[in-house]
Amino acid sequence: MAAPEPVVAGRFGPYGGRYVPETLMPGLIELEAAFAAAWDDPAFRAELDALRRDYGGRPTPLFRARRFGEVHGGGAEVWLKREDLNHTGAHKINNSLGQALLARRMGKRRVVAETGAGQHGVATAAACALLGLECVVHMGEVDMARQSPNVERMRLLGARVSPVGNGSRTLKDATSEAIRDWVANVGTTHYILGSTVGPHPYPTIVRELQAVIGDEARAQFLAATGRLPGTVVACVGGGSNALGIFSGFLADADVALVGVEAGGSAAGHSAALGRGAPGILHGTYSYLLQDDDGQVVEAHSVAAGLDYPGVGPQHGHLKDTGRAVYEEVDDREALAAFHALSRLEGIIPALESSHALAWVARRQTRPPALTEPILVNLSGRGDKDLGDRQLEPAGGNP
Ligand SMILES: *Cc1c(COP(=O)(O)O)cnc(C)c1O
Repeated sequence: MAAPEPVVAGRFGPYGGRYVPETLMPGLIELEAAFAAAWDDPAFRAELDALRRDYGGRPTPLFRARRFGEVHGGGAEVWLKREDLNHTGAHKINNSLGQALLARRMGKRRVVAETGAGQHGVATAAACALLGLECVVHMGEVDMARQSPNVERMRLLGARVSPVGNGSRTLKDATSEAIRDWVANVGTTHYILGSTVGPHPYPTIVRELQAVIGDEARAQFLAATGRLPGTVVACVGGGSNALGIFSGFLADADVALVGVEAGGSAAGHSAALGRGAPGILHGTYSYLLQDDDGQVVEAHSVAAGLDYPGVGPQHGHLKDTGRAVYEEVDDREALAAFHALSRLEGIIPALESSHALAWVARRQTRPPALTEPILVNLSGRGDKDLGDRQLEPAGGNP
């Protein structure tokens, strides 16, 4: 399938680009220039580094999960990059802090964001409170009902949560609404997009802000073991935590990169790379869940943060070139891994991150098991998932 011509570059192979209405182009061009200048400015980088350290909690630790490794590692060492220990509970704050600083630098006093499970909304609300920016988070009505503790957190942090009643009333519709809000208010407003998706320059900005994960992890892994991991594994929703950790290892040809998509259940899945086809959603050309008529299909996962029908364009390119491989883990496997890490290590992982752990557990039952150390990006903690009735251990567990 040939890609349509994009308005301008910002491409990963055939993927990426900017498929947006004319009214959005000046904002995207302004943003691209502002980010390039900020990223080149030592003062901006120094302020971001200080906030990452003193506010966000970086560097996050690298931890060897010995008991999980003994039971589920099949003889290989299993190491965790502890993004769960970030302020607000996941890697999302890396992106929100950087973009909120950028908004202030651009003189935009108002920020809009989209959120599904609420994690990106909470991280963005926190960053805006910190920097004194007005914050409006667009969120589907269905998600607001499902994720009410995060709605409460955003409100406590001073954000206005704006309900979205269109379409499926979930993340896809909230994203469309955030884009509409930005178009209408682009003079005063910055849109903090939450993953490596959307029109250029967002996939690049978000990857650069999340690359701190892979940069730290590579140095920490070398310091702890004297070598590099054999395999790096991360879950893939929009793809930002995976690209964040992959970025540190892309040039290391011997390190295998594995992205784990949500295989879901009989109710559906979110495997855009594994089972989707290229198409355009939210201004970018990438793999997408769509029907034969090109209509976007609803995504499903037990992990709300993986519940998005698209995926970042750079992942499409990594898949096509074979530099990364993408596999699926279903809801049941992810729940089993969620319980396993909790009991074996005293760490309650996010359901999203549990997909990466479950891939390790399954892979190591299939000969030949991996023998080189495995590095898992533990993208977030599971506190947000505790109200979820789906968390009961799978049957047969005494
Ligand atoms: C949002 C989220 C994800 C999925 O988003 P990516 O952009 O694919 O990283 C994964 N894990 C956690 C904990 C999240 O909050």
